[in-house]
Amino acid sequence: MRFIKTTAAVLALLFLLAPLVGCAADKTENKGDTAEVTTENVAEATLATETETEVETEPEIPSAAYGTGFDYAAVPEYSGEPYAVIDGNVPDFSREDVTVEEFEYYSELDGLGRCGVCAACVGRGLMPTEERGQIGQIKPSGWQTVKYDSVDGNYLYNRCHLIAYQLAGENANVNNLITGTRYMNKEGMLPFENAVADYVRETGNHVLYRSRPIFVGDEPLARGVHIEAYSVEDSGEGVSFNVFCYNVQPGIEIDYATGESRQAEHTATDGAAATETEDVAAASANTSSQTTDRSGPDEVGYKYVLNTNTKKFHYPYCDSVNQMADKNKEYSDSSREEIIASGYSPCKNCNP
Ligand SMILES: [Zn+2]
Repeated sequence: MRFIKTTAAVLALLFLLAPLVGCAADKTENKGDTAEVTTENVAEATLATETETEVETEPEIPSAAYGTGFDYAAVPEYSGEPYAVIDGNVPDFSREDVTVEEFEYYSELDGLGRCGVCAACVGRGLMPTEERGQIGQIKPSGWQTVKYDSVDGNYLYNRCHLIAYQLAGENANVNNLITGTRYMNKEGMLPFENAVADYVRETGNHVLYRSRPIFVGDEPLARGVHIEAYSVEDSGEGVSFNVFCYNVQPGIEIDYATGESRQAEHTATDGAAATETEDVAAASANTSSQTTDRSGPDEVGYKYVLNTNTKKFHYPYCDSVNQMADKNKEYSDSSREEIIASGYSPCKNCNP
């Protein structure tokens, strides 16, 4: 799956890979008694990385959680594409970041309760083996429960994983969930997450991954998420990208200072809806992978998808949902029992 072409800069990283530097703190090492190793690694990372953040106060930050090249001011205004390519699509990982040792890192919330950068070395070992749990109790900064008829699944906001559940298996981790529009979650981030997940699943290789919500000033609602990924064993041949996904919803105006929103004027809605369709097609073509929605029930805001034609019901991430005609889809918050009582039976694939 080569959805992004390898650039010269990425090729330049190739020869740097020879001695693989395992500088990222391993999950288990973080727990305590290997403090010596961890401290040493962080010291290395600190020396090697020019950062704008104070490092002393957070001693276990892997170097891959940095990356210095992103400037939100340089991101073009949203103009109908769910994401913008940053820095020629070359991810900003350094030699110190390169590792095949799996890890995951989530920043603590800041003073305003907002998520920060998350990073991981994604491999098969990090991927989930269990059913996802509930995350509906978490209210990320800027959260509002609001519905629009024009939004897929109706809910404007999703609980949006910075590092997707399918990549690292993190569920109700407050440091990994932001308030994101349905559009950003599904059209912006999901195709990239699917590409990484499919690549790791198919090859068993590792992907360095960094995801950073971008806030302006004190705003509780992120303007978007900056995502970078780089496949380690094949030096970015399989996966290599650097993108900014816009936290917007076509047809809806959003106030990032409050999370409040309203339907845009009709003309704007029509224009945005038209371009949106093209974007979805473009994203699918780019990744040459299916855009199966692998969101969890709490993430998308509804629990089940009903097929009013077959009278079966599904979890939102079931493959059948993608194949269902829109006119047969009904989104439901009702309990399983209530849905069965109203004449529906559970799908045999997703077992809701
Ligand atoms: Zn199903």
